[in-house]
Amino acid sequence: MNNKKILVINCGSSSLKYQLFLMPEGINLVKGLIERIGQKDSTIKQEHKDKTIEKKVQVKDHNQAVKVMLEAILNPKDGILKNIKDIDSVAHRVVHGGEKYSEPVIITNEVVNDIENFADLAPLHNPVNLEGIKAAMEQIQSIKHTATFDTSFHQSIPEYAYMYAIPHELYEKFRIRRYGFHGSSHSYVANKALSYCKRAKENTNLITCHLGNGCSITAIAFGKSVDTSMGFTPLEGLVMGTRSGDIDPAIIHYLLDKGYTDKEVIDMLNKKSGLLGVSGLSNDVRDIEKAAKEGNKQAQLALDCFAYRIKKYIGAYSAVMVKVDILVFTGGIGQNSIYMRELIANNLFNIGIHFDKDKNKLIGNHIGIISTDYSPVTVIVIPTDEEKKMAEDSYTLLFQ
Ligand code: AMP
Repeated sequence: MNNKKILVINCGSSSLKYQLFLMPEGINLVKGLIERIGQKDSTIKQEHKDKTIEKKVQVKDHNQAVKVMLEAILNPKDGILKNIKDIDSVAHRVVHGGEKYSEPVIITNEVVNDIENFADLAPLHNPVNLEGIKAAMEQIQSIKHTATFDTSFHQSIPEYAYMYAIPHELYEKFRIRRYGFHGSSHSYVANKALSYCKRAKENTNLITCHLGNGCSITAIAFGKSVDTSMGFTPLEGLVMGTRSGDIDPAIIHYLLDKGYTDKEVIDMLNKKSGLLGVSGLSNDVRDIEKAAKEGNKQAQLALDCFAYRIKKYIGAYSAVMVKVDILVFTGGIGQNSIYMRELIANNLFNIGIHFDKDKNKLIGNHIGIISTDYSPVTVIVIPTDEEKKMAEDSYTLLFQ
């Protein structure tokens, strides 16, 4: 077998996550996180086998973060590789690929320029993704680097589903449309669910629920995304940890009229809404479930709003696809919360979902089926792994 070591890099505004995979088996060799880049108290945590290193480091920018990551991986004492040449390719996460990228790609100058140009659509993400790419390409030379875009899986959504019903010139001038995000996660769990259920994508429809701090739901017909709940930005759709998801857009104008500033409103919708906003407590389902159990009514209301919105989307996506075969739960909440899965998927008999409460409890946070044996729709929990998906993309592009 053609074994390759693929380094996956995922840069956030002040963090760099990395993992090294042995492909095609998908074995994780090392995993690390550099946090608080650009601040005084930056840290690195690296784990492999039963070895964990955790220390304070000086990291002023992403260029230096790549240096620190390579030092940790190549450290003769507790590193994992002897030589930088042991890395066969580097896979990068890029949030926005606009309308151009519907597949992962090998990074060329043209791709770099495009990522820069799409920064207009993802100002918080594309510039830092690009910083990581430039730093890694400079420091890990003579091998190929690939990019996996969060948006690309959703490029198959039909025009009538991605178009907003606003003046068409806004699409023509500014490319305002639904793009969708979390593409790597939705396509990864869909593929895993197909192989777990021994089904072919050509005759299977799925609804995948990625429920983490950010949440989105996708309708997948015959292997292709045909609709997804996040839109022009990740703010649309489901109730999330701190994001509102769908609201009446006129509320924004109303609040501006009441004296809130533009920035205050957008900050409120992104950072102070969702589970946090409704519960008034936390964005973390664990805290909210605990408070609800203790009788906190607002906490229960937050969980009910969260589950209700997902039910509505499951219903909508059942209507737009000819049939649904598999419903997938993933993400921190979807993979872990027995209570939320039950709140969402119980009592959906009318669309063929026969939820099994006992199986749900038994499965806990593992992979497995949580619907009854006779349920027309198979409900399944699949842990997501976006980094592994990026390594798979890089391997497929370069070595298969
Ligand atoms: P993610 O963004 O996928 O890492 O998901 C993070 C979120 O998952 C947290 O904010 C929690 O709301 C939720 N979560 C993680 N573990 C649990 C758990 N054991 N029970 C309920 N929710 C959880």
